[in-house]
Amino acid sequence: MEKKQFQAESKRLLEMMINSIYTKKEVFLRELISNASDAIDKIYYKALTDDSLTFNKDDYYIKITPNKEKRTLTISDTGIGMTKEELETNLGTIAKSGSLAFKKENEIKDGHDIIGQFGVGFYAAFMVAKQVTVISKSLKSEEAYKWVSSGVDGYTIEPAEKNEVGTDIILTLKDNTEDESYDEFLNEWRIKEIVKKYSDFIRYPIKMEVTKSKPKDDDSNEYVDYKEEETLNSMVPIWKKNKNELKDEDYENFYNEKHFGFDKPLKHIHIKVDGTIRYDAILYIPEQAPFNFYTTDYEKGLELYSNGVLIMEKCADLLPDHFSFVKGLVDSPDLSLNISREMLQQDRQLKVIAKNIKNKIKRELLNLLKNEREKYEKFYESFGRVLKFGVYNEFGAHKEDLEDLIMFYSSKEKKLVTLDEYVSRMPEDQKYIYYATGDSIERIEKLPQTELVADKGYEILYFTEDVDEFAIKMLMNYKEKEFKSVSDSDLGIESTEDKKQVEAEEKENKDLFEHMAKVLGDKVKKVKPSNRLKTHPVCLSTEGDVTIEMEKVLNQMPN
Ligand code: ADP
Ligand code: MG
Repeated sequence: MEKKQFQAESKRLLEMMINSIYTKKEVFLRELISNASDAIDKIYYKALTDDSLTFNKDDYYIKITPNKEKRTLTISDTGIGMTKEELETNLGTIAKSGSLAFKKENEIKDGHDIIGQFGVGFYAAFMVAKQVTVISKSLKSEEAYKWVSSGVDGYTIEPAEKNEVGTDIILTLKDNTEDESYDEFLNEWRIKEIVKKYSDFIRYPIKMEVTKSKPKDDDSNEYVDYKEEETLNSMVPIWKKNKNELKDEDYENFYNEKHFGFDKPLKHIHIKVDGTIRYDAILYIPEQAPFNFYTTDYEKGLELYSNGVLIMEKCADLLPDHFSFVKGLVDSPDLSLNISREMLQQDRQLKVIAKNIKNKIKRELLNLLKNEREKYEKFYESFGRVLKFGVYNEFGAHKEDLEDLIMFYSSKEKKLVTLDEYVSRMPEDQKYIYYATGDSIERIEKLPQTELVADKGYEILYFTEDVDEFAIKMLMNYKEKEFKSVSDSDLGIESTEDKKQVEAEEKENKDLFEHMAKVLGDKVKKVKPSNRLKTHPVCLSTEGDVTIEMEKVLNQMPN
């Protein structure tokens, strides 16, 4: 009874997931082709490190075979294949991965990235197929196996006949209904179109027997059909193409195809360097942070290719931590292929490339800030925190790269402003860059400590994240202006006249203040009158470097 219910639920979950990730059914083909290409990449990767294997490029391809009579579409590859166990774990756990993705999805708002992370691509096949049969022979196994499933109801695995290593995915298309026809996916012309659209840069040939016709004999106008194998994709990697051949869309498609993210990137950067060091790179600034971005699970890095061949999926050395959100790839002919991970880290070429890339990213972000403010603000919403951490980390080693990129909410502008904007607006008599710290903008607005500064007409930056104050303490100053908390006991704006008044009050009420200090005991260092208050009777202020808010954060940290 209970089991049945669970199945019904997971079925709904799967349907929901598939319907929410994919707006178009046709992408099932992209997913299956990508998997096939990944499988060939894996065998290639193996050949690099295993001397007993040779990689003959001609032996590796993907083949698409539509069969109109049987209403099947087969996608075959000569990749690494799957063992029986791999069929079980990779394809057999629909409900499990589905619910995990769903759980995570509920923790954050955007569901897109999550699904990519949990490998749901294969199940896109069920958008068009009533049954999926996978026949696979692994490089690691003598036996081939057949996996059959018609959705979440379950699957079967049994031994099968297959001579060559690789995988055949056979889709039995759904029956046509009044509203929906699946025949298009058996149509050669349509298949070609889909492959071109999504999988043109797949590095391995995607082949199909294409129907052609020719005159029956030389002077006949009677035509006969014949089949000829064609390669459907152009295979030239996008980064090898000229920038003027490429449209924004091409870059965006590539971003999705590569699973860099399911969002639309805010910006792409195409770099071609042909100097003492040669490399091509395509970098993306995403719009949304992946769900695990602010956790230790997130791995930064760029794909690293040598001459169009993948050598490392996530080369962390190519990106500084504060730009860890950047996605993309680097292709350089100057790196040697058999290089090991450790050797790569010391590769001088790689260091030079990394530095170039870092500077390029910084420049592009500054451009975005200057010319496309809205986009930059979107970017900052997703990744501002990592920039601020970057200022603070490594004892401020990167602060010069970052000080012009960080933003804070301004009391005057009621939106995010840069430090440069703040400083350029400062009245002549203003000595410091003022900031106030609190849990939220609303709460900071009500802080008694802000009154005097705001009354003077000075702008105040609102710090609402733990990292903010730590970052600016590391920065120390911006354009020679020091930062000052509004709760600092010395705000640097009291006039001499006021001072006299305050001193007089302090004398007059000496007993009262002494009594208050006694009652409060250890909690405070001093109780004294202040002229900074207008509508509030009392406020806390601090002396020295560590403010109340910082103390709170420090107290929360594990020792
Ligand atoms: P992802 O590609 O994101 O990992 P998929 O759902 O597309 O997720 O595929 C799940 C897994 O199944 C892959 O990671 C891979 O291990 C395996 N797989 C799928 N298709 C193939 C194939 N054609 N050859 C070998 N392994 C495959
Ligand atoms: Mg996949």
